Amino acid sequence: MNKPLPRVRFAPSPTGFLHIGGLRTALYNFLFAKNQNGKIILRIEDTDRKRFVDGAVENLIDTLTWSGITFDEGPNVGGNFAPYLQSERLSIYQEFTQKLVSENKAYYCFCTPERLENLREEQQKLKLPQAKYDKLCLYLSKKEIEEKINSGTTYVIRLNVLPDQKVFFDDVIRDRVEFETNNIDDQVLLKSDGFPTYHLANVVDDHLMEITHVIRGEEWLSSTPKHILLYEYFGWMKPVFAHLPLLFNTDKSKLSKRQGDVAVEDYRAKGYLKEALINFVALLGWNFGDDKEFYEIDELIQKFSLDRVHKAGAVFNIEKLNWLNFEHLKRKPDTEVLKMLRTELENSEFSKSNYDDAYLLKIINVMKERVTFVYEYITKSSYFFKTPEVYEEQNLKKRWKDDSAELLKSLKDKFQTLVAPSKEDYEKALDETAIQFNTNKGNFIHPLRIAVSGVGEGPGVYDIVSIIGKDETVSRINTVINKLSK
Ligand code: GLU
Repeated sequence: MNKPLPRVRFAPSPTGFLHIGGLRTALYNFLFAKNQNGKIILRIEDTDRKRFVDGAVENLIDTLTWSGITFDEGPNVGGNFAPYLQSERLSIYQEFTQKLVSENKAYYCFCTPERLENLREEQQKLKLPQAKYDKLCLYLSKKEIEEKINSGTTYVIRLNVLPDQKVFFDDVIRDRVEFETNNIDDQVLLKSDGFPTYHLANVVDDHLMEITHVIRGEEWLSSTPKHILLYEYFGWMKPVFAHLPLLFNTDKSKLSKRQGDVAVEDYRAKGYLKEALINFVALLGWNFGDDKEFYEIDELIQKFSLDRVHKAGAVFNIEKLNWLNFEHLKRKPDTEVLKMLRTELENSEFSKSNYDDAYLLKIINVMKERVTFVYEYITKSSYFFKTPEVYEEQNLKKRWKDDSAELLKSLKDKFQTLVAPSKEDYEKALDETAIQFNTNKGNFIHPLRIAVSGVGEGPGVYDIVSIIGKDETVSRINTVINKLSK
């Protein structure tokens, strides 16, 4: 018999935003599915009503759409992003819970929050390693249960975990993982509001949706024994499990908001390209066994495998992300960068100006080796969009000499004689003026750069001059002479 094609899922809880770790989980599921010709499903695990945040599902879908991760299946097939919503499937979970109850594998529990709190406190006093429910309600008679239900007493339904047994599973990344049932609490499966807990809904859906591989973060590892018990109690085949390594800050603390951004939307807002973020996140726990770090999505799909995901925590290194952004941006076709630059311009102080494509393409051409973000085309080389308002102090001290104004004036006169000059024409004109004054070219080049850009760094000065054009260059030379000659 042929092995069925893999079916995986990304199953986020809509708690507000997509965490970088969530993006990594979604990506690894996506890469695995695409690599194996399988399918990936988006399922929203929204059964914890206390943690529900308005607009979170829309936000999640928007961020996933931006990232380029696509899904194959949902309830209203047609649109890629019609996720399964667990909150719409309550009767399914209730039905499956009843099945477990009828087989004594789960039971009604009517204990009040006060009793549970007291129990917890007592257990804490006894220094028990972990607070556990004491199974009091397991021993209620059928009649007692019926009476309590009929009188409207609130209840939950708990998993009946048998003591003194071992639960184990083979994780693709972590090999064999074993737990003792004595350390597993009688987990609530169905809450008093009729909603399932994560554990029940997750397992029921993974089964019904025929999920073959559960690929998720290591923080869920401790939940897995409960899931294994549920599979066993239901008599269902277990999926393959792969728990992805934790993410750390560079100081080895857990990746958290305190040390930087953890929401994908924050990186998007800061101007990171989805290609760079995807590339970066792919390397948080995986590599192909070599030093290669630059990847496009197609190559990731082609090379990804779970057996190359490592166990050790992965460090979030923002410098690597910046480098990847630089590399991805540099390789983008100029026409694509042009579109992005136009968007940046619309949101900048230059939104009112009309730049033609040819002008912007020239800027892209000379700046692309110098920018990490699209907005830097504007911030790092604002002189392409406006006359410099200030001249960088340090650079002036070093480069503006007593005779600079006079030399620049002659250079300006020379430039004015040029007709439709090319970059080479400007260069030639400057060379000739230097010879005429019997002085070093640098005595013209540096003040000229100050005049046209205000700063000491940037693309070649002849590039700048030929892009802004003769009239603008002459006008900027006049301005600098006025401002700086004593
Ligand atoms: N709802 C869980 C989450 O928010 C899903 C964990 C799992 O994939 O089983 O990540």
